[in-house]
Amino acid sequence: MYYKSTRNSGVNVTSAQAIAQGISKDGGLFVPSEIPAVSMDDIKALGEMTYAQRALFVFSKYLTDFTEAEIRYCVDSAYNDKNFDTANIAELAHLFDGTYMLELWHGPTCAFKDMALQILPYLLTTSAKKLELNRKIVILVATSGDTGKAALEGFRDVPDTEILVFYPEDGVSAMQKKQMTTQEGENVGVCAIKGNFDDAQNGVKAIFTDEKIASELSAAGMMFSSANSINWGRLAPQIIYYVSTYAQLVKDGEINPGDKINIVVPTGNFGNILAGYYAKKMGIPVNKLICASNANNVLTDFIRTGVYDRNRPFHTTISPSMDILISSNLERLLYHLCGENDAQIREWFGALAQSGRYEVTDEVKAVLKDEFYAGCCDDVQTKECIREIYGKYSYTCDTHTAVAVKVYEDYKAATGDNTKTVIASTASPYKFSGSVLEAIGADTDADEFALVEKLYEASKIPVPASLAALKDKEVRFTETVDRYEMKDYVFRALGI
Ligand SMILES: *Cc1c(COP(=O)(O)O)cnc(C)c1O
Repeated sequence: MYYKSTRNSGVNVTSAQAIAQGISKDGGLFVPSEIPAVSMDDIKALGEMTYAQRALFVFSKYLTDFTEAEIRYCVDSAYNDKNFDTANIAELAHLFDGTYMLELWHGPTCAFKDMALQILPYLLTTSAKKLELNRKIVILVATSGDTGKAALEGFRDVPDTEILVFYPEDGVSAMQKKQMTTQEGENVGVCAIKGNFDDAQNGVKAIFTDEKIASELSAAGMMFSSANSINWGRLAPQIIYYVSTYAQLVKDGEINPGDKINIVVPTGNFGNILAGYYAKKMGIPVNKLICASNANNVLTDFIRTGVYDRNRPFHTTISPSMDILISSNLERLLYHLCGENDAQIREWFGALAQSGRYEVTDEVKAVLKDEFYAGCCDDVQTKECIREIYGKYSYTCDTHTAVAVKVYEDYKAATGDNTKTVIASTASPYKFSGSVLEAIGADTDADEFALVEKLYEASKIPVPASLAALKDKEVRFTETVDRYEMKDYVFRALGI
């Protein structure tokens, strides 16, 4: 198995190279040269395994340059009951008849990004060892909140790595700030910057691409790498939970081997739903992949019309992790759908960079319609949906997940499709206690920890230990720097 670039089909690298490099030099994303198959016999066997064993099975098909022992080390380090608050790792809850919530938020930061960021550090350091890079890996992250914390938890105390996170001083919630500034670990650093998220992002990019900084780092025996969501090492782990869920549904007798399911995903950067597409192409019987967006509905329009147009207002919503106008991972899907035509991808994504718009061919439009359904809802509908399922099914879900539930209800009403359906639940409701309480009509005039208490009274879902512990945790990182001081901070933190 090799990996090609979406912008140059001639590129041929191993999975270790794809993961260590992150993005191809031509600006394209790495995609597998072929999609491996799972059979229904495999599915029956997987039903008897733990999540880590299922992960080993799927990874061994994609990371063919890794030894079994290497993959085992990665999956056992990540998917254990020290890092996750359930032995099942990904939990499957019943919402109503034939509809299941795939809870992907039982990891240390209570959001689905843990599913990939818990294992990425091990995939990355193992890749670096295999390639004999012999350098300490330094991860730089600019964050608007969730990714920074998930990356910090993933990389903390992982040998041969160091992680530094920058966040905009006034651009994250009080809870998110507390999560980051109290971060434990010997190899972590957290720093606020004076500016907004774009300033932090641009600062990190400038440091990444500065050759002088790179050579100073190299002289000190270090190299930069990225924990960015376009890294194949973040996408591959997401395929596993779809394969695992299908195996679990078969084992539990909810479906028969070969029965189709729908998969609904609250979508931002298109990584999570793309992993569902790969699972389908591997042989998991999927009827529709349902792409749910908030008021930032560029993907709804795209899937319905074949025109991608980012020239539209940006909305700040109560599902902030989906507030996105450019969904990077769509490039991978389109590469597969257009027959791996790299020239076509260069044209479309060139146009996107130039004018913010491109239109796909009629063939691609037809496949998009066939494989996907897309819908969106605004904040008012999101809150109504939270209240409705809280009232009807005594299930409390977060704002992102509610977008998916609402779009699924619309889909069902429009099509009458009764196929059993798995809805990806991407965050614990406690991460967005204020919005969730508001939706169910509770009083929200309190600080973030009091809100957590109130949500517990309303939902009776155990408060995640990591959030409960936050209140009494010591703040370790208080530094704020100007944008142009970010490089100095990095060098100081690394002791260069
Ligand atoms: C990141 C995130 C999403 C969006 O996932 P993509 O893979 O970017 O589409 C949805 N919900 C939550 C809670 C997230 O953190």
